[in-house]
Amino acid sequence: MKIILLGPPGAGKGTQAKFISERYFIPHISTGDIFRKNISEKTSLGVEAKKYLDEGKLVPDEITISMMKNRLAVDDCKKGFLLDGFPRTVTQAKALDLFLSNTGGRIDVALLIDVPKDLILNRITGRRVCPSCGASYHIKFNPPKVEGKCDVCHNDIVQRKDDTEATVKSRLDVYDKQTEPLIDYYEAQDVLSTVNGTGEIDQVFQNIKDVLKDIHK
Ligand code: ADP
Ligand code: AMP
Repeated sequence: MKIILLGPPGAGKGTQAKFISERYFIPHISTGDIFRKNISEKTSLGVEAKKYLDEGKLVPDEITISMMKNRLAVDDCKKGFLLDGFPRTVTQAKALDLFLSNTGGRIDVALLIDVPKDLILNRITGRRVCPSCGASYHIKFNPPKVEGKCDVCHNDIVQRKDDTEATVKSRLDVYDKQTEPLIDYYEAQDVLSTVNGTGEIDQVFQNIKDVLKDIHK
């Protein structure tokens, strides 16, 4: 299955991606995670991407598309994949379509996790992540077992630099202008499915499974 997760920052894409990837045995590919890994390793891609992430802006299409073409060419993507955070512009979506059509493939479903804007700010500012393993928590809605510590590797969990209120506003603005048009783009291809993302984490996953069971036959 080739799945795209759509939705504003903080909608729950990364949270749900973990469950979907485990259940359907497909790799979870998060452009944000790839950029953050490169930033922490200070690669040339990381040095270039950092200025955009810090300001809540999109990394230029050319850089992002080239990075994703390399990632999608890796063998584990042959059985399908789950994209989280890509595409984020119509140019990226067209590049992805072209890349897939070269191997006779196409996206099976673009899943939009629908969450109203007033819930988003709380979700993002309460997010905490483990810098070591990437596990994600929420101080209120999904707290770790021991306050401030990752359940998996017991490191201190931290707030992402771009999860402050000021940067979130800029990221939501970027989403409205550059990413939201993808909803119409995938609707026109007849692959868009919208799930209600306002319930608890388990409930949202159930909503997603209800959609995927019709596709994964
Ligand atoms: P995204 O990947 O779309 O930016 P995340 O999956 O990181 O979003 O979720 C953002 C924050 O909201 C995280 O702290 C996560 O624990 C929390 N969260 C995710 N889904 C829900 C939900 N259904 N209800 C409440 N909080 C949630
Ligand atoms: P995320 O982890 O999905 O919230 O992404 C964090 C940041 O990484 C974004 O605010 C952008 O700066 C950058 N980013 C992630 N995915 C993309 C993309 N597809 N295109 C451009 N920039 C991206």
